[in-house]
Amino acid sequence: MRLLIIEDETALADALAEILKQNGYLADAVYNGLDGLAYIRTGVYDLILLDIMLPGMDGLSVLKTIRRERIFTPVILLSAKSELSDIVNGLDAGSDDYLPKPFSTTELLARIRAIARRGQQYSEDSLDFEDLSLSKNTMELRCGKNSIKLGLKEFQLMELFLRNSHQVLSKDLLLSKVWGLDAEADYNNLEVYISFLRQKLNNLGTKTCIRTNRGVGYSLEVNE
Ligand code: CA
Repeated sequence: MRLLIIEDETALADALAEILKQNGYLADAVYNGLDGLAYIRTGVYDLILLDIMLPGMDGLSVLKTIRRERIFTPVILLSAKSELSDIVNGLDAGSDDYLPKPFSTTELLARIRAIARRGQQYSEDSLDFEDLSLSKNTMELRCGKNSIKLGLKEFQLMELFLRNSHQVLSKDLLLSKVWGLDAEADYNNLEVYISFLRQKLNNLGTKTCIRTNRGVGYSLEVNE
């Protein structure tokens, strides 16, 4: 999962990004509302942590703008103000949750997990497709009695394939979701990781495979 933090207290924003990375998420931080809006519009984020009081454009305006543009990425609003009116305004403007500052890391992580689970068709801990099961806690990929531990990038790629089985995922989408917008990774890096994953799938003896769709991208399928 890739998260965007929009928060003008740079120390807090950077600390949040660090905590999220330590917990297996990808996270980018921006420090004003206009940058936040531009980043959200790239469409690569799965969840947004949005402060309300921001320079440039305030958080509620950012939220209203993206919802008007029919961008439905989940948003958790963060704010030092904890008055009822802010909470109501935030929820009315289309936020999914609201967390008054200061909050505990444990609570933030629990709320992120709750939103990530919502609407997803998988059980809390694992993502499944055919004979494959990926544990989100241990990053282990399992097939029958066999299991193998994935590296972080392999895990993130596999997560995307399992959530979008039978769908062709473009190389650009995979690169932006796993390596991020500013990263220097290119198609070669992606191809190397796809070959790692294929080797592991092979070792597990699964009937699934990552198929190359020439000129388009990759898809997770059942082997004929
Ligand atoms: Ca602020």
